[in-house]
Amino acid sequence: MITEQLRSFPCPKCNELINTGMDKCSYCSAPIDPAEAEAAAAVQDQVNKAYSDASFIRNMAVGGWVFFLIRYIPFVGIAGWIGMFILMVLVPIKLVVWQARFGRLKTTDPDHKRAKTNRNVAFLIWIPLPILLGLAFLVLASFA
Ligand SMILES: [Zn+2]
Repeated sequence: MITEQLRSFPCPKCNELINTGMDKCSYCSAPIDPAEAEAAAAVQDQVNKAYSDASFIRNMAVGGWVFFLIRYIPFVGIAGWIGMFILMVLVPIKLVVWQARFGRLKTTDPDHKRAKTNRNVAFLIWIPLPILLGLAFLVLASFA
């Protein structure tokens, strides 16, 4: 017996979450085409990945500021500098990759909207960091 892994996707007719093993929707009884179901489930997987990735990038952006503060702690300050610079470089790279992979995903899933919000929040949390460091650098340079 082949145990096929069931994956969930929104019914094309009523948008309720159903899974790929069904031949009709358990909510609205709309007939489900297996190929269409697999395609929809693949999109759903992408939506889930987009959502978790965007949350992760947002946390990375927050992490950049945590390291920013760690810089002020005696003895471990150097770890703060390193962590801050790594995240300052990584966050925009991750955002570009996210945009390329998930930005144009065709779906009406609200999680995709939430993922896009997280992407925007990540950017807004991140952007003051390079601006602040840039300004600090300019101020220091003008005194040198
Ligand atoms: Zn349905």
